Amino acid sequence: MSTEQTYIMVKPDGVQRGLVGEIIGRFEKRGYKLVGLKMCAPGQQHLEQHYEDLKEKSFFPGLIKYMNSGPVVGMVWEGLDAVKTGRSILGATNPLQSAPGTIRGDFALAVGRNVCHGSDTVENAQKEIDLWFGKEGGVTKWAHHSDAWVHEK
Ligand code: GDP
Ligand code: MG
Repeated sequence: MSTEQTYIMVKPDGVQRGLVGEIIGRFEKRGYKLVGLKMCAPGQQHLEQHYEDLKEKSFFPGLIKYMNSGPVVGMVWEGLDAVKTGRSILGATNPLQSAPGTIRGDFALAVGRNVCHGSDTVENAQKEIDLWFGKEGGVTKWAHHSDAWVHEK
């Protein structure tokens, strides 16, 4: 296990439903460090780039319309095994299969309104962080005062 960064995003339904604080709180309380945060509505082209690997799927147009329906909140979280554990905090893609206690398992029902996004691999996390925060300066380096209480050294 190593320290990783992952890109987590509150989707438009999560923003509209007032779940931004709840989602941030779950990552914060688990022990992850917030190193990037921004609200934005970047438009269709940017969203198509983010979901490029899904462009052949039948649900792609609907997915882009959904993601373009309001602002999103993008975040970068850092810590031990952040990519895989980040996805376990979100829950399964289809909320009906997400365990209770996960974000989707607690707050969502439909796959096309599943409240949040999380990177699926370390490589894709870096691509997504570059896409949403830019290659230079978008992510903040800082020392967390609780680091030694969260991570074994
Ligand atoms: P994720 O990594 O868990 O978000 O899942 P994927 O990368 O496979 O898909 C991206 C997003 O597309 C999901 O979070 C869903 O919002 C949406 N999606 C995935 N599969 C389906 C589907 O079968 N139908 C619909 N309507 N949306 C889907
Ligand atoms: Mg995905």
